[in-house]
Amino acid sequence: MSTTSAPAALHLSGVVLPQGEHRDVWIRDGRFTFEAVPGAETVSRGGWLLPGLVDAHCHVGIGSGGRALEDRDAARQQALDERAAGVLALRDCGSPVDTRFLDDEPDLPRIIRAGRHIAAPRRYIPGLALEVEPAGLVDAVRVQARRGDGWVKLVGDWIDRGQGDLAPEWPAEVLAAAIDAAHEEGARVTAHTFGTDALPGLIRAGIDCIEHGTGLTEDLVAEMAARGTAVVPTLVNVENFPGFAAAGEARFPAYASTMRRLYAQSGAVVRAAFEAGVPVFAGTDAGGGIEHGVIADEVRALHAAGLPAEAALAAASWSARQWLGLACIEEGAPADLVVYDSDPRADLDTLARPGLTLLRGRVVG
Ligand SMILES: [Zn+2]
Repeated sequence: MSTTSAPAALHLSGVVLPQGEHRDVWIRDGRFTFEAVPGAETVSRGGWLLPGLVDAHCHVGIGSGGRALEDRDAARQQALDERAAGVLALRDCGSPVDTRFLDDEPDLPRIIRAGRHIAAPRRYIPGLALEVEPAGLVDAVRVQARRGDGWVKLVGDWIDRGQGDLAPEWPAEVLAAAIDAAHEEGARVTAHTFGTDALPGLIRAGIDCIEHGTGLTEDLVAEMAARGTAVVPTLVNVENFPGFAAAGEARFPAYASTMRRLYAQSGAVVRAAFEAGVPVFAGTDAGGGIEHGVIADEVRALHAAGLPAEAALAAASWSARQWLGLACIEEGAPADLVVYDSDPRADLDTLARPGLTLLRGRVVG
């Protein structure tokens, strides 16, 4: 039945989310339609139909230990591990490896890239970032904006070994010029930050998103809400902060203490951001120390931090898709969907058990 050419006409019925209405859905030429397609094969009845999940912060091409993954099969496997968890689109938040070859494979998730991380010299995991002096930031941003898929990734803060603690990487005026340059190139900008001090410069320079954001304060949250700046908390990764603190304790006690404080407040920061109206999206930070395919853990963590279940689900599905410019289950949209056998809004644990999975109208799981 399956061929490598056009996908077959399919039919499903179930509760379509986020609307929550029971509907019949057909797929023709890889796209959704609500008009009956004669001869379509019924592949699912009675489930909950969720727009394909999104991992809004992960890395394809970074292997365990934080090394660039040159093995193409290993990079492909990372994308497949996301797909097995129902993730049909991922925002790659910086990769040292060119993974464009994956775009030729229609059964792999859509990858929306941020090019390569841009960091100040020796201020990120060795070998991963493009390292530039502040004077070179604007040009580097333009290059990465053209290389990515509408995003640029800055490293906003990192340990400064001289200070022995987290510290900002870029002067505020350079950030403003760099973010303006990205916007001129048609790209949005996001930045890794753990601490607080880098945040005012980034947010006031008009950045579009903050990654991790554990150092957000009430005032900064209010400013993000007013500006529409998003946050991707990566709570799965924040669970590693006590380990980072322990590893740095002997040489950098101030850093260790900062990381423990940030860990302790991380749930409250996410809740405050959500309650203030900051758009919050689900990202696992897989690639490096975290395995791919754990989006359900991040959604549960967002819920545990205080997002209502439906909002936590939206953060990994329909609202994340909308934020990234991807359609949901709507007439004419590419057929990317996951079927669950019970209502994930009622029990988020359901998310860990994706059923029938369609990507570009093809059955892939
Ligand atoms: Zn990351």
